[in-house]
Amino acid sequence: EDAAGGGGESETQEGGAANTHVVAHHYNELKEGGRRDRQKSKIFFMRNFNNWIKSQLINEYMALIKESKRVGDALRVLDMCCGKGGDLLKWEKAAITHIICTDIAEVSVEQCQRRYQDILERAEKSKYANKFTAEFFACDSTLVRLRERYKDVTLQLNLVSCQFAFHYCFESPGQADCMMRNAAECLEPGGYFIATMPDAFEIMRRKREADPDAKSFGNDVYNIKFDCETDPLPLFGAKYQFHLEGVVDCPEFLVHFPTLVKLGRKYGLKLVRRTTFADYYKEVLPRGRNLLQRMSGLESVQPQRYGNDEQFAHVSEFQASQRGRPLGTLSKSEWEATTLYLVCAFQKCKNTWDA
Ligand code: SAM
Repeated sequence: EDAAGGGGESETQEGGAANTHVVAHHYNELKEGGRRDRQKSKIFFMRNFNNWIKSQLINEYMALIKESKRVGDALRVLDMCCGKGGDLLKWEKAAITHIICTDIAEVSVEQCQRRYQDILERAEKSKYANKFTAEFFACDSTLVRLRERYKDVTLQLNLVSCQFAFHYCFESPGQADCMMRNAAECLEPGGYFIATMPDAFEIMRRKREADPDAKSFGNDVYNIKFDCETDPLPLFGAKYQFHLEGVVDCPEFLVHFPTLVKLGRKYGLKLVRRTTFADYYKEVLPRGRNLLQRMSGLESVQPQRYGNDEQFAHVSEFQASQRGRPLGTLSKSEWEATTLYLVCAFQKCKNTWDA
């Protein structure tokens, strides 16, 4: 694919959006392996760990929203850049009533919709499962005003979630502005926008550590190769090629966090959390330990290779682990890759002034 070629809506945006179709193509082509394939992957534990982080984040902010609601109130969510719907079960568990799922990759949106149908079918059979309504559409959240695609354009949302994807909009100011407006404009006051994304400060710190002049750095599971001027870095379009073993291989953009916060303010969003994955892990481990044990899937892999129950008691011993990684689960390379990320949360204010 020619990154700069193509045509269509992505090139009509002021400030350029030449990479969006490269990203869409990449995710559309991504095959979804079965559990067996995933277990063989070098980043099997990291994927489970990232899923656990997302669960903790979703549960934390859904719990805050529920505190201000009565039983039976609607709980509406936008999953922006939903991918194949990897978070649908989390939404089901969070007892939401409605979800809007959108992604630039049509193939992923179709898979997401199928996954939802499966959940519904199961829910029909079980009197305990939570049934929720849903709508799906494929579109570029950095170029299109999402609310115009909602079945009800006046819909008010309680939570917007954008997991491992917001950084794609930092290609240009126009795209970042559009994506932030999409995150903010339908949130009701008090609602939250939650996200996970690469931590640009950490990326630059590692780049300096590797070798100040190095264009590329990483380990055997991830690699980052800069594709722009890095001294000084541009606020938008700070492009690098990101490779993550078997999952990602496409252009990404550094998110200058102070600029993200300013953009949020413009749309009435106040920053309430910015925490690196390493710190979030420490913070939420006490309440998330059981889930982490279940999600890390150790019971289904060979014990001699990944440790026995004692080692698994692990996840456990964050303090005891000198390197600060969950013992017996993530490899050092996986831990280095996952700690490239941060979680953040914004709360919608009654008016922009308050943000
Ligand atoms: N949120 C999902 C998850 O956590 O499993 C998927 C994360 S995946 C790393 C990033 C997703 O962002 C991909 O599904 C990709 O198609 C989507 N994406 C990238 N750029 C986008 C854009 N401009 N508009 C909408 N979706 C986009």
